[in-house]
Amino acid sequence: MNARLDGAFAGSLYGTDGTEDGESMTISEKARALLSLEGKVAAVSGAASGIGRGIAVRLAEMGAAVAVLDIDTDKGRDAVAAIQQAGGKAIFVPCDVRSDEDCQHAVEQVIGAFGTIGILCNNAGIAIRKNAVDLEEDEWDLVLDVTLKGIYLLSRRVIPHMIRNGGGSIINTGSGWSLRGGPRAVAYCAAKGGALNLTRAMAIDHGKDRIRVNCVCPGDVDTPMLRSECAQLGGNLTEFMKEAANRPLARVGTPEDVANAVLFFASDMSAWVTGAYLVVDGGGLAG
Ligand code: NAD
Repeated sequence: MNARLDGAFAGSLYGTDGTEDGESMTISEKARALLSLEGKVAAVSGAASGIGRGIAVRLAEMGAAVAVLDIDTDKGRDAVAAIQQAGGKAIFVPCDVRSDEDCQHAVEQVIGAFGTIGILCNNAGIAIRKNAVDLEEDEWDLVLDVTLKGIYLLSRRVIPHMIRNGGGSIINTGSGWSLRGGPRAVAYCAAKGGALNLTRAMAIDHGKDRIRVNCVCPGDVDTPMLRSECAQLGGNLTEFMKEAANRPLARVGTPEDVANAVLFFASDMSAWVTGAYLVVDGGGLAG
């Protein structure tokens, strides 16, 4: 049976009064419409590489015009070219998320190019794998400034615009280490724990503005960052990756795995979800 969400059937199907939008659509049409980002504009920080690039690609595939914000111009332009070649809409905007001036300028550029920003993905982050004794103060500042302060700096420039436009969706990239500690990663764990609680605090403040703020918490994803962590720890890459794959779903993650979770938060599919986190880690934290 091709169930249609109309009339009394819609009401009985969802236990509502049947007055929700999309009553005349099929279920698959409605699901597609809820996930579609057609006509929306997304800004993604750290989108030149790894998870951020995966997020930018997936959001563009779902119809959003995407701004790739990063300090790496070459890789940023490469990500934009890949999106454009696939028929998507994208621009590169240089932005160091540690700089308020850069964030302000980047937001102006995105709005100048695409007219608005409805989705903000605060994804830029770096990891220095050291304990508290070995970590230098400037290394602490670097990790915290990029990975935590950058979320605040970019958000404070985007939120007033979202408020004027009647709402938006902010997705912060946390980590499994937003929820747990990990070895030789004091600054990173502090930043990621902060990112999750900052998510909740911003969700509380801006729910009234119809801005949803959520957090994805990936486990080990094969990106340049993960490989750099292996190098920093002096590990053998093959052994390191094998160890990282030791989780219920028996593999490391891909940027696409995380991008799909971000899509859920970015889209209307998660219309009543805010201040939440989604662990995307192949079951690594399940035990
Ligand atoms: P990556 O190194 O591949 O990409 C990070 C991007 O951030 C790069 O393009 C880099 O140029 C950019 N960047 C660095 N400093 C910046 C700054 N000051 N301003 C703007 N951009 C800056 O790393 P990734 O693995 O894709 O990580 C992306 C996010 O995912 C990070 O927040 C990271 O902590 C998080 N994460 C990664 C993993 C993993 O296993 N790879 C796991 C959990 C969480």
